Amino acid sequence: MTDRIKCIECNNMILPQTAADNEGLCGQCNKIPPELRAEKSEYERRLANRSVFMPSGEECATSSIPNELLTAQWQLQPEYYAESNMDSVMAAVSAAQLQPEGNVFLVTINAGQFNLGFTERYGVCEYRNEESGEFRYAYSEANLREQVPAELHVCQACSCCGVGMLWYPSRYHMPREKAFSIIENVVANRRTQDVKWLETGDFTYTERGRG
Ligand SMILES: [Zn+2]
Repeated sequence: MTDRIKCIECNNMILPQTAADNEGLCGQCNKIPPELRAEKSEYERRLANRSVFMPSGEECATSSIPNELLTAQWQLQPEYYAESNMDSVMAAVSAAQLQPEGNVFLVTINAGQFNLGFTERYGVCEYRNEESGEFRYAYSEANLREQVPAELHVCQACSCCGVGMLWYPSRYHMPREKAFSIIENVVANRRTQDVKWLETGDFTYTERGRG
């Protein structure tokens, strides 16, 4: 039996010959382009030193409030609410408050989207506008600075069908009541004093209960 050795990028145990052929990498890692491998190991490093649980200085520097949050008329996302009998945005928000987990999806006529996702304890507020290219999340001092437990992790859901897509990073999570107060303010075009709107980056590496 040959002793297997660890892939230099992941936990796979590989044959010395495989390592020799692939510069220390397992077959799977060897298929991933070097830039992506570097990105992934940078993410793992930030997870290990816990810096992933706070916005980076770069992320904080992106702070700006989207104009639509202060001026637009927000409406229910028509496809998501097509089967419901919600007649107003506030009716949808009130109904959501009674649910243990779920979403509220609002839109503007100028391609703006406001997505609130929530679980029993946490909420995430996300602003998106594919036309203007603006993508932000709400950050406050009350946001989580540690790992969100898997069962309370908020999922980024598709705004037309509600199907889950990605897991929001822990630092996007805030107390659920605060997230609901933000959506109420947005609907009324009021600023939420202690909330910053930071650009969302690529969070595809976040897994449920990890990151
Ligand atoms: Zn590997």
